[in-house]
Order: sequence, then structure tokens, then C-alpha cells
Amino acid sequence: MGRPHKECIIRQLPPAVGYKPAGVSLGEIEEVEVSFAEMEAIRLVDAEQLDMGEAADKMAVSRTTFFRIVNSARHKVATALWQGSALRIEGGVFRVADHEDERRRLFACGVCGHRWSTPYGTGQRGRDMGCPQCRSRSVRREG
Ligand SMILES: [Zn+2]
Repeated sequence: MGRPHKECIIRQLPPAVGYKPAGVSLGEIEEVEVSFAEMEAIRLVDAEQLDMGEAADKMAVSRTTFFRIVNSARHKVATALWQGSALRIEGGVFRVADHEDERRRLFACGVCGHRWSTPYGTGQRGRDMGCPQCRSRSVRREG
């Protein structure tokens, strides 16, 4: 792929660096590589059962990107299980969420470029608020 991947945010690191079928050694089987972003994506939508939009927001990626990540993750995990392959968790451009990410949601205005944030848990939907500077409704979520 040509363009560099945008950094995404993950909230939890996987509990293991990899998984393998019981009763075989790693030398005997293939390994399927799963990125940290892919592991986070299936944690959010399959383990935590968030909806895709909410999960995409948490990872600070677009819906389209999230959908691609989660589909790739599911394909790899299912393939590894059914081929008897090991999973190795490795790679991808990401950072682990810090306290600031947890507390605030970031928005940007598509008209005047103003950027602002609102705390999590206020119940406000940023896109519905409009830009506090120019009142434009062309607001996008930044993180
Ligand atoms: Zn504005």
C-alpha cells in the first residue's frame, strides 16, 4: 500500500504476544500475523460488542478504515483457527490511549478550521453541536 497508515489509538494491549494450537510446536505450523489495531478492533466489536461507529471513534479512525481493519482481523483469526496456524500479534501504527484520550473528544470544523474538544460523558454529540466559532454544521471527529 502506498500511503502511510494513520496512527490509530488502542486502549488495551493483548494479554499475549501470540496464540497457537494445543499440542503442536511452533516450528511445525504456519504463523498468521495480526496487527495490534486488528486485535483492538475485534476486542471492541466482537468482545465488547460496541457498534462499529463507536469503535471507530475509540480508535480514532474513519468508519471505512475501521470496517477494513475488523474484516481483516476476523478473516485472519478464523483462518488461523481452521488451518491450525499460530497467531502472532505484531506491527501496525498505533499508540496506547492516555488519560487525555479518555477524557476528551476532539472535533474540527470543516469550514473555518477551528478545533476544540469536549469531555467524554457529557452526552453531547459533537457533530450535532456545530462549530462554536462559525456555527457551521460541517464538523468532523478528530479523536
Ligand atoms: Zn467553524
